[in-house]
Amino acid sequence: MAELELRADAHVAMRDPNAMLERLCAHFVEHFTVTRHDNGARLEGHFGAVDLCSPDGVLDIAVTSPSETYLFVVTSSVAEHLHEFAEGEPLEVSWRGSLPQQPRIPYFREAVVRSAHDITPAMRRVILTCEDTAHFESGGLHVSVLIPPPGRMPIWPGVGPDNRVIWPSGADELVRRIYTIRSIDHQRQELAVDVVLHDSSPGSTWARNARSGDRVGLLGPGGGDIVAADWYLLCGDETALPAIARIAAELPATARAAIILEVAEDSERQDIKSNAAIDVTWLHRGDAPAGTTDLLLEAIKAITTPEERNPFVFVGCERAAARAIRKHLRSEWRLPKDRHLVAAYWRLGHADVRDHGD
Ligand SMILES: Cc1cc2nc3c(=O)[nH]c(=O)nc-3n(C[C@H](O)[C@H](O)[C@H](O)COP(=O)(O)OP(=O)(O)OC[C@H]3O[C@@H](n4cnc5c(N)ncnc54)[C@H](O)[C@@H]3O)c2cc1C
Repeated sequence: MAELELRADAHVAMRDPNAMLERLCAHFVEHFTVTRHDNGARLEGHFGAVDLCSPDGVLDIAVTSPSETYLFVVTSSVAEHLHEFAEGEPLEVSWRGSLPQQPRIPYFREAVVRSAHDITPAMRRVILTCEDTAHFESGGLHVSVLIPPPGRMPIWPGVGPDNRVIWPSGADELVRRIYTIRSIDHQRQELAVDVVLHDSSPGSTWARNARSGDRVGLLGPGGGDIVAADWYLLCGDETALPAIARIAAELPATARAAIILEVAEDSERQDIKSNAAIDVTWLHRGDAPAGTTDLLLEAIKAITTPEERNPFVFVGCERAAARAIRKHLRSEWRLPKDRHLVAAYWRLGHADVRDHGD
């Protein structure tokens, strides 16, 4: 783990700090390695470490993180869960330490639409300008795009005194959708996102109507950097095409990649450029609605298990397909967890995959 440099502490008075400590440990075990000791517990992970200790009537929390972003993410998330698990008991969470004087979300940036154009019949490219394109260079490929209500001045999310994110509500409520940054042009201060136009959903409508000067908020980037490997299998439907095209474009010449893409029809194909040796297969689902075929799974089943010492599989598609593919890779290919990332990019019949993805 990276060196832990930044620190924030909170001492939170509450009725039953032991019970709170137990609930936090049970919840965060999914994201951190939890170690118990006589005085409490230590949660350690990629984002840093959280030390919890529960002397009489108080929960002592010490967070150490390698970056401002991670320190914010952990303190904000711990504060969120303290309030959730307190079940109505009023708590005062006040962090002290390496936090900025003016609380802010370190991974929020505003961007402005420069232009938009169709790149295929069902995919629209929105070019955004942003002063700080360098911020999006590493840490992941995707962002949450915050779309303000049409015709209103955007109110962006703020940060409360306990570091919890405060979301605008009512008439100022933002639509939040995840998109991949397809490409970054630092010289022109531009980010491109490619949006699937599937119906009159909020994301599709935003892309269809995007006009020069429209403002959006961006949270991210997220998802982690491209994992180093000798051989890649990159699979997905249209929603993952931007991610796969960007991964392919960033692979070194020494890498090899099999790429399998499911699209509606021939007119949805795009040119995939790469310095690596790539082998691209296009699957057409024809009249079948998106998210209803097993074309990707069947194509993966037809591949012989990779013998490379260092393979990596990336898959992004509809949730049910993603689950079936993940199961296959784990049970048949016996791929360890750190050698594949199979993500639900959307869920058939459900809006906003953030609530349903895995
Ligand atoms: C890490 C990540 C990266 C992503 N990158 C991209 C990207 O670069 N480009 C992109 O277009 N999408 C991308 N997605 C997927 C996108 O976030 C979802 O498709 C999202 O649901 C779109 O929002 P919406 O407002 O259009 O539809 P929603 O309001 O979320 O959904 C409305 C209805 O449309 C259905 N639906 C959602 N997406 C599709 C689809 N693609 N085809 C058919 N029906 C659909 C839903 O099942 C629901 O019934 C990404 C998702 C993740 C998790």
